[in-house]
Amino acid sequence: MLRSRFLRRYSRAEENARAAIEKYRGTLEIAFVQNDYLTGEPKPCMGGWGRSYMCINPAGEVMPCHAASVIPGLRFETVRDSALGDIWRDSPAMNAFRGDDWMMEPCRTCPRKEIDFGGCRCQALLLTGDAAATDPVCSLAPAHLIVESALAGTNSSDAVSQPVHASSFVQLQQLSSELWSYRMNPD
Ligand code: SF4
Repeated sequence: MLRSRFLRRYSRAEENARAAIEKYRGTLEIAFVQNDYLTGEPKPCMGGWGRSYMCINPAGEVMPCHAASVIPGLRFETVRDSALGDIWRDSPAMNAFRGDDWMMEPCRTCPRKEIDFGGCRCQALLLTGDAAATDPVCSLAPAHLIVESALAGTNSSDAVSQPVHASSFVQLQQLSSELWSYRMNPD
């Protein structure tokens, strides 16, 4: 019931996004990404940490994804100091979640680890406080209740109830507002 109600809302949002993509095609590129909590299966975030993608920010820092700087303790090497190939291959940040050595159960022995590579590290950090935790979007994750609770709150017609780990969501909102600014609908 909860999921079907959410799916209806999601379908409307997708229709609106696709209409906007058509409307602004050639003028503005709009990327529409399906929410990973729709299926209960994480996405292969960035195709897996340090597997095929890197981005370089204006300071020259090389990161496995544009949001990786939310993870405390990662130091990103810069192309001003080292060759890009060396950074890609050897930098501690690019290697932090490469492969499966970092994984805990249930990811470590899960057959899907070759498909989703354990999901999103930034999402795991922001929702659980631990970047190495199983992505809470996964229905097998010990912290999956956080996502279910958030969905229940979003879909409630009553006053929104507090998610299980409210502090994590506060942290998420604070970090998000520091990292990204959202533009108004151009209509
Ligand atoms: S347990 Fe880990 S590897 Fe398995 S589906 Fe969930 S996130 Fe992916």
